Amino acid sequence: MKLLRLTLQGFKSFADKTTIEFADGMTVIVGPNGCGKSNISDAVRWVLGEQNVRNLRGQKAEDIIFSGSETRQAKNGAEVQLVLDNSSHELPLDTTEVAITRRLLRSGDSDFKINKRSCRLKDIQELLANTGLGRGSLAIIGQNRVDQVLTARPDERRLIFEDVAGISLYRMRKNEGLRK
Ligand code: ATP
Ligand code: MG
Repeated sequence: MKLLRLTLQGFKSFADKTTIEFADGMTVIVGPNGCGKSNISDAVRWVLGEQNVRNLRGQKAEDIIFSGSETRQAKNGAEVQLVLDNSSHELPLDTTEVAITRRLLRSGDSDFKINKRSCRLKDIQELLANTGLGRGSLAIIGQNRVDQVLTARPDERRLIFEDVAGISLYRMRKNEGLRK
């Protein structure tokens, strides 16, 4: 699953609309401490449906919205869009690119979109469940995540293996069936 581009607007330190294009091969993001490198990986995690703001190094949901600086006013909302390459149609959608968008306003309103159409968080989780980009996936390993994997409880570790093995979609559907 290849990432094509990431657009951030009002997300953490990215007050202005910023687009990062991921070229073929490897992309390395470098810069001085505090310049926003980790905020970029937080944005990827967030747009893919992360619901625990602590995993994004925040305390409350609105901590991901640009909070202002000496020269800039705070923003009223944050929006992140991640465009995935779907030319191989690995994702069950007709389009060759799939855009996933998440927005959060300070009022608390929030929404998700797949290819500009509103959807639920669950639709995104299901779409990505078997791609390795889903919830809890090891596609993104944060600075303290290695420890977490090693010290996880057996049931937590099992979720990681299920994700890697590509059976999380079936687990999600089974749990849903059991609730009905
Ligand atoms: P390091 O090299 O130390 O890991 P980094 O490049 O990964 O640094 P980040 O952690 O991505 O840096 O960015 C930290 C910066 O983001 C801090 O200056 C912090 O003030 C800023 N920041 C975080 N959340 C917000 C927010 N909601 N509004 C404005 N700025 C924010
Ligand atoms: Mg960092």
